[in-house]
Amino acid sequence: MSALSDKEQIRYSRHLLIKEVGLAGQKKLKSTHIVVVGAGGLGSPALFYLAAAGIGTLTLIDDDKVELSNLQRQILYKVNHMGQAKAQAAAKVISSLNNQIKVNPLCQKLDETNCSELLKGADIILDCSDNFTTRYLVNRYCLARSIPLVSAAAIATQGQVMSFDFRDENSPCYGCVFPQTDEQTALNCDNAGVLSPLLGVMGSMQSLLAINILLGHKAGSEFIQFDGLTLQQQRFSIQKDSECSECNNSLWTRC
Ligand SMILES: [Zn+2]
Repeated sequence: MSALSDKEQIRYSRHLLIKEVGLAGQKKLKSTHIVVVGAGGLGSPALFYLAAAGIGTLTLIDDDKVELSNLQRQILYKVNHMGQAKAQAAAKVISSLNNQIKVNPLCQKLDETNCSELLKGADIILDCSDNFTTRYLVNRYCLARSIPLVSAAAIATQGQVMSFDFRDENSPCYGCVFPQTDEQTALNCDNAGVLSPLLGVMGSMQSLLAINILLGHKAGSEFIQFDGLTLQQQRFSIQKDSECSECNNSLWTRC
């Protein structure tokens, strides 16, 4: 594992002081590659914290451009980014926060034909996308390769975050929690709205869960529901569904 430079020891000194990270933990973060799918409302806080925390390599995937309506919640972007590719703009912002990490911006739409290439080398993947097609695709990729996945969603005033530790072959998957149906095109931030800081909570939780998984403070899979009005959260352990079409399809290994 890579040693820390003098500058890194200063930058991460507040991590080095706590026993749950320490020098060994910080080196682990430095040697880790995280892929973040979606640099929007969830991806913004997640990327900020992963970069600040010293994740050594960050790949971010987003094919959108920055629009005025994004600025209500996608805190990576400023007025002068409007019209720019999100992946490029986001990479510049997080590189200016931490110039000691490697950032790979990919301005592409993730699909079945390119997922092997774009998600390659990930130690853990954060699904910060806003649609079910991408969520199932990332789930299948992680499941087939035993890569831990942290997925989240937020609509209106309600947020959800879930982690799947596919290093355990008995782990449930996203499809076990949300079986595919024909009605899943329905709600997203564009048509149902979302309370701005709720994205900050959920995206930050994703980065925290990812770091806890990396540092060995978190094992197994769980589901957290967060209410943006009462600030209450409920945690559920989730079980593998023996009927799950995602878990039971051996074709997914091609992805
Ligand atoms: Zn499943």
